[in-house]
Amino acid sequence: MTAPVKPLTIGVLALQGAYDAHVKALTAIGAIPLLVRVPAELVGPKGKKIDGLIMPGGESTTMLKFLDRNGFFDVLKSFVAPTPPYGTCAGAILLAARVEHPAQRSLGALDITVERNAYGRQIDSTILTAPTSIPGPPLEMVFIRAPRITRTGPAVETLATRDGFPVLVRQVHILAATFHPELSNDTRVHQLFLDLLAQHSRK
Ligand code: GLN
Repeated sequence: MTAPVKPLTIGVLALQGAYDAHVKALTAIGAIPLLVRVPAELVGPKGKKIDGLIMPGGESTTMLKFLDRNGFFDVLKSFVAPTPPYGTCAGAILLAARVEHPAQRSLGALDITVERNAYGRQIDSTILTAPTSIPGPPLEMVFIRAPRITRTGPAVETLATRDGFPVLVRQVHILAATFHPELSNDTRVHQLFLDLLAQHSRK
């Protein structure tokens, strides 16, 4: 008999943007979402450990403004080093090693370079369905003023592309998408994050 699997507790950075849809996706796959608005909430209720952190889409410049309060930026930078993060769109921008167009500060956890708002002003939001290396059928991908990943480091694996550029990447236990998996009904990318976390905690 196998022991029941303890549900994972996932922090969802809730400063701004599309965090609510992540809460729904996590709940749908049996994880426990926990909104994180201030640095102290990264510790978890009564010291309960947060297993991973989702950084949602929205506007990365606005998120940076919130992160400048109470030293949140530095706390978050230290937090995502040992605790795996999963960033979507603006969240991926915040995780990147380097941000261009225009340049801005980032946490540097994921060895990629991103160009913000790379798909122009008019045709900047679109829904595509494309194959990925995640098992199963092609994945719906909702792009909203998406960045483009223009460089990936040697430790970064590309799991899906758009026009030859990576849109879903993984660096060991760190996951990032330039689209919004939380806005589709398909929960495979969130499930992949939980699987990576389960591997991480077994180490
Ligand atoms: N354009 C936004 C930024 O640069 C990202 C858009 C999104 O998260 N949907 O931060």
